[in-house]
Amino acid sequence: MIVFSRGFPTGQRLDLTIQAIDIIAQKLHQKIPHTSAAPPFALPTDLILQLDAVVWNGTHCPVEPGSAVGSVTVMMMNPGTLPAPSGNVTAIGPNPLTAPSVTILYDNLSTLDRRPRAYKWGRSIGLCENLFAPGANPQNIAAVLFHELVHICGGNELDAEAFETFLFSGTGATDPDLDDWEAFRKRHWRGHWVHLTKQTNTRGAVKNNFGGALCTFDIAPSDQDADAKQQILQEAPSTSLG
Ligand SMILES: [Zn+2]
Repeated sequence: MIVFSRGFPTGQRLDLTIQAIDIIAQKLHQKIPHTSAAPPFALPTDLILQLDAVVWNGTHCPVEPGSAVGSVTVMMMNPGTLPAPSGNVTAIGPNPLTAPSVTILYDNLSTLDRRPRAYKWGRSIGLCENLFAPGANPQNIAAVLFHELVHICGGNELDAEAFETFLFSGTGATDPDLDDWEAFRKRHWRGHWVHLTKQTNTRGAVKNNFGGALCTFDIAPSDQDADAKQQILQEAPSTSLG
């Protein structure tokens, strides 16, 4: 993973991003059975391999769960002008030929009306200014960054939301918004690796293509878009029992 720190304001935002990469690596290490467990895994093998290549620079993380993750690579454009990266992340000099091929850029979108928190552009991920609003923590940034990584690996909106929730539920994942629900419907409730069924009028359940339960999306009554989301959910196929 390459962080083009030239675009980042120095200091906290870069630190938070580097911490977020570290969190993703640790989450993957906790959730992915690398050796002993039998398939089918909750995360599909081809997605794991792609995430591995990006986050762990193509090699399996050599450390044990719970210990420091040392193999995340951050490429500094101007290493001499920046604070040392925090935590256990290793900084190396620019080496575009051997570095993994996802680039993270900082994007100041203050001139746009509609301001996303992050987006994917080819093999790049833009992290936007409003992701770093006061109170932002590296968990939230990790969840957003991971969501965009799933898109880069070929996932559509349902895949990205489902795997984000699977890995970051309670620790940074955000509920699908109305645009997301519309995207689920538009793709006929299927992702590349997952599918959604209606469990109740306010709950969709997501399983992987082996039938393994990944997560549920609940529409809270307090949600300002609850009615519109529920209306969309009624069009989803129902869970077939038995
Ligand atoms: Zn998305």
